[in-house]
Amino acid sequence: MEQEISGRSAVPPLAVRDVLAGERLRLLTLCQELNHDLESIADSSASSNADDEHDPEGATVAYERAQVAALLAQSTLRLNEIDEAVQRLERGSYGICASCGEPIPAERLLARPTAQTCIRCAAQDGGHRDPQRA
Ligand SMILES: [Zn+2]
Repeated sequence: MEQEISGRSAVPPLAVRDVLAGERLRLLTLCQELNHDLESIADSSASSNADDEHDPEGATVAYERAQVAALLAQSTLRLNEIDEAVQRLERGSYGICASCGEPIPAERLLARPTAQTCIRCAAQDGGHRDPQRA
């Protein structure tokens, strides 16, 4: 579905670039903190009796570690989305719905700067399709 992009008011407000940069910085800091947390959890479990699976503290550490690891994976994924959004900004394809080719409303982009589809297409999608592999 090729659509003429030029002539449309698809250029996002400068604010989006700021939002992306700010979000990127926040996520980088968060990832660093989570990495640090993972390391300290690993340290504390190494110094305790990790062989005893019935040790309630060991279970807590494993749970904590899984939580932090999941959060880190989530944040890394989100960081990739930000990077891709920045790349789309550079290429000039940012703010164009990947599904229908219509400009994505600025309000949506400001609320969700990594959005690749307009609200209508996102609703039809149900969030099941992976836009990264489109
Ligand atoms: Zn759309």
